[in-house]
Amino acid sequence: MRPKVIAGNWKMFKDLRETSDLLSSLVSGLGTPPRGVEVIVAPPYTSLSLASDLLKNSPIKLGAQNMSEFDEGAYTGEISWKMLRSSGCSHVILGHSERRQFFHESDDLINRKAKKGLTAGLKPIICVGETLQEREGGTTASVVESQVRGVLSGMAASDLENIIIAYEPVWAIGTGRNATPAQAQEVHALIRSLVRQLFGDRSGESIVIQYGGSVKPDNSAELLRQTDIDGALVGGACLKAESFIAIIRSAKT
Ligand code: PEP
Repeated sequence: MRPKVIAGNWKMFKDLRETSDLLSSLVSGLGTPPRGVEVIVAPPYTSLSLASDLLKNSPIKLGAQNMSEFDEGAYTGEISWKMLRSSGCSHVILGHSERRQFFHESDDLINRKAKKGLTAGLKPIICVGETLQEREGGTTASVVESQVRGVLSGMAASDLENIIIAYEPVWAIGTGRNATPAQAQEVHALIRSLVRQLFGDRSGESIVIQYGGSVKPDNSAELLRQTDIDGALVGGACLKAESFIAIIRSAKT
């Protein structure tokens, strides 16, 4: 049985004091997550080390929001896998639509970063998803299929054990307009069947596929009840402990 994995993407929010406030409220308010539910938070780079300290005795895991494809070197402004590992990260979000849109990240680059992360012992949460134009043009399936093929290119079935795919329709991110449970389920089933086709039945069965896009406490339970939705990647609603905790609790299996 697959776990439900709830991850919070803090984006470019929260300085050190705010990080401390939010994590204190989250840790004390959540206590132990429901059985079968895993929780990850992905603060900005500057808060990772502090977050790692604050989460030391907690079941909440730590992720970063991005990572360089390179090991080290003259790459001003970049952050390496080694820095993330030494800051306490177990996970890294890759290929978020904001990275694709504003920083022109391609499936090829995301694939290289994911391979680098895997080699370094980080678990990539790889984002895919269509734009509104693509959905309205009827190309959702082909766009998502091509992204999944691209980001997983050259990987082995054993790599899939350490990868999470996040289906995030771009039109649903930060817009307050979530995909309906049926719309999300349809794409999740498609991704699972593609993974099965590319890597075998076991990988298809076990791969964790999160949904992301305006997940809130009032829509999370129904989304998370769908057969192929194994968790959520949460933006806005993870910035307040109360709403993030409500979403985590709604994932109870
Ligand atoms: C996200 O940033 O991945 C996201 C899904 O944001 P929001 O929940 O705010 O739509």
